[in-house]
Amino acid sequence: MNDDTIDPKGFIVTTALDLTLPASALTPGDTFALPENPGRPLIVETLYPHPGLPARLIITTHGQTTPFTLHPNEPVKPLRLLRTFDLTCQLCGNRKQQVLDLTVHGTPQTWVCNQH
Ligand SMILES: [Zn+2]
Repeated sequence: MNDDTIDPKGFIVTTALDLTLPASALTPGDTFALPENPGRPLIVETLYPHPGLPARLIITTHGQTTPFTLHPNEPVKPLRLLRTFDLTCQLCGNRKQQVLDLTVHGTPQTWVCNQH
């Protein structure tokens, strides 16, 4: 099993990702853009609650010395969000882990493995 592949095997039914996500949905390694600057991809390095301001997140990104301070509900444009899912085949119960890019594949709902 190769967990690095993001080429889904078998047949996955997914729901498409929204065009924007709340900033709180980001995790380190995700690529996103701010709505006011959609052509500039940013890669999350760290993301943590602001120590002094409640309901604010501090997001540091690769290559940027100044971190962003965003409200957790502030919409951002997701560009690449890799997530690992545990999938169970609807027909035979076969299980596997699959890495998917939510912006390309969406969120898996049901899966049928490639044995059928
Ligand atoms: Zn199966």
